[in-house]
Amino acid sequence: MEESNQFKRVIAHAKEYGFVFPSSEIYDGLSAVYDYGPHGVELKNNIKEYWWKAMVEGYQEIVGIDSAIFMHPTTWKASGHVDAFNDPLIENKDSNKRYRADVLIENHIKKIEAKIEKEILKAAKKWGQQFDRSTFINTSQRVIGYQIKINEIEKRFSSSMKKGDFLDMKLLIEECGIACPDSGSKNWSDIKQFNLMFQTKLGAAQKRASDLYMRPETAQGIFLNYLNVQKTSRLKIPFGIAQIGKAFRNEIVARQFIFRMREFEQMEMQYFIPPGSQQEWYSFWKAARLKWHHAMGLDKENYQFHDHINLAHYADDATDIEFKFPFGFKELEGIHSRTDFDLSSHQTFSGKKISYFDPFTNKTYTPFVIETSIGLDRMFLAIYSACLKEQTLEDASKRIVFELPPYLAPVKLAILPLVNKEELVGFAQEINDKLQWEWAISLDVKDTIGKRYRRQDAIGTPYCVTIDFDSLDDGKVTLRNRDSMKQERIAIDRIKQVVAHKVDMISALKTL
Ligand code: ATP
Repeated sequence: MEESNQFKRVIAHAKEYGFVFPSSEIYDGLSAVYDYGPHGVELKNNIKEYWWKAMVEGYQEIVGIDSAIFMHPTTWKASGHVDAFNDPLIENKDSNKRYRADVLIENHIKKIEAKIEKEILKAAKKWGQQFDRSTFINTSQRVIGYQIKINEIEKRFSSSMKKGDFLDMKLLIEECGIACPDSGSKNWSDIKQFNLMFQTKLGAAQKRASDLYMRPETAQGIFLNYLNVQKTSRLKIPFGIAQIGKAFRNEIVARQFIFRMREFEQMEMQYFIPPGSQQEWYSFWKAARLKWHHAMGLDKENYQFHDHINLAHYADDATDIEFKFPFGFKELEGIHSRTDFDLSSHQTFSGKKISYFDPFTNKTYTPFVIETSIGLDRMFLAIYSACLKEQTLEDASKRIVFELPPYLAPVKLAILPLVNKEELVGFAQEINDKLQWEWAISLDVKDTIGKRYRRQDAIGTPYCVTIDFDSLDDGKVTLRNRDSMKQERIAIDRIKQVVAHKVDMISALKTL
C-alpha cells in the first residue's frame, strides 16, 4: 500500500473492525481522545504483556508498581513540570490554527533532509555500482549547501530554545519561509509558552479544594515510591522500577489519530544507578530497547535513533527510538539519562532524605536514573501501520490481512462450522469449550466460509479451523494459516499444540 493512503486505511480499518473508536462519537467526538474497542483492547493488552514480561519478568532486579494518577501537587513543582513543561505555541493569524513552533522548525529541517536524500537517490541511479554515498555527500555542492542550511537552523533553534528567546524563534520561522500547513499563510502570531498539564480540584468544598494536576508522565509515581520500593523489595543498586499507566497532556496540536492524544498510556522503567555510571547504562538500555523492538519481527528499517539536541531540564543525554509511521519517522520511545535531578529535587521539596547506602563502595549517594519511556498507543499505531497489508491474490481478488506477530493477535483461533447446521455448530461449540481458557477464540457462524476467512485475516487471527460433516466422523478439522492461506487436515487433539506453538510469546522473549 502506498504510504499516503496507508494512514487513512489504518484509521478506517481500526474503526470498522472494532479496534479504535473516536471517544464520545455520538456527541461528535472529543478532540484527540479515543476509545479502544473489543479487538483493540486485546491487542493493547498483548502489547502490554510483551513489554511487562520483557522488562519486569526478564530482569531479576526490576520490579513493577501501579501508582495513582493523582499525586501531591508539590510533586509537579519539584519535577519542574509547573515551570517548564511547556511547548512554544504559535498561531497562524489567517487560518487561526495553532502549532508548536518547535515542530514547525523540525518539520522544515526534515524537508531539507528529504531533499538531500532525493539528490542521493538521483546520483545513485546515475552512477549505479560506482556510486559511493559518503563521497557524494562530502563533494556534492548542492548537498553541502543543504547541510549548511540545516546546521545553521539547528544552531539557532537550539540557542533560542535554551534561552527561551521566542522572538528569535519567530524570526527563524519567518526567515525559513515556513507556511501554515493548513492555509499556506505566513502571517504568524508571536510565540508564547503553553503549559501542557491538565488542572483539576481535589475535594467537594470549592473554597478548601486544592489544585491538582492529572499526571503528564508516569515517572513521578516511581520517583515518589523509590524509598518504599527499595526498602520493601530489599533491592540493591542497580535496580529498576517499571509501570504501565495513563498520562494526560493538553497537547497544542493533536491531529494524528492515536499518535498524539490528550489521554494516553505510557510504559516506563526507571533504572537507578550509581552516579558516574550513566554513560554505560544509557548505552546498555539503548541497545536493550532496540532489541526488544526488533524481536517483534517488524522490518528493522522501520527504526532509527534520533539524539536530542535540546535536552529537557532533567537530562544529560537523551535519544528517541523513531519509527517509520505512514507520515514519516517520528518518536516512538524516549531513552533519557535523567541524572539525580528528580530524586534530589523531591528530597529538597519534601525535606525527606532520599539516598542510598552502597554496601559495595561504602558510600552514600543519591542514585542517578536512566529512563526508558514508550507510549503504548504509539506502539499500537506502529504495529498497525507496519502490519496492515492489502494483497492481490493469484485470482486477482484482493484481501486485507493484518500480519501481526501471532502472539499479539487479538483473536488467536477462529472456529468456523462450514455451514450453519445444528450438528456442525454443536460440534464447533464443543471444541470451543475445550479450548476457551487457552486463548481468545472466536466462534464465527454467519456468512460464507470465504467471507469469514477474510474477516479473520483482517483482524489478524493466525489460524482458523473449519468443521465440516467429515469432521463428525473422522475427528479432523481443516486448519488454515493466515499468512500462507495453506490448509491442512489435522486431528482435533492437535489443535491446541499447533496453535500454542504459533502464538507463543515466550520464544520471542527468549531471543532478547
Ligand atoms: P513528543 O516529542 O512526540 O511530544 P515527548 O518527547 O514529549 O513526545 P516523552 O515525554 O518522552 O514524549 O514521553 C515518552 C513517550 O510517551 C513518547 O515517546 C511517546 O511514545 C509517548 N507520548 C508522549 N506524548 C504522547 C501523546 N500526546 N500521545 C500519545 N503518546 C505520547
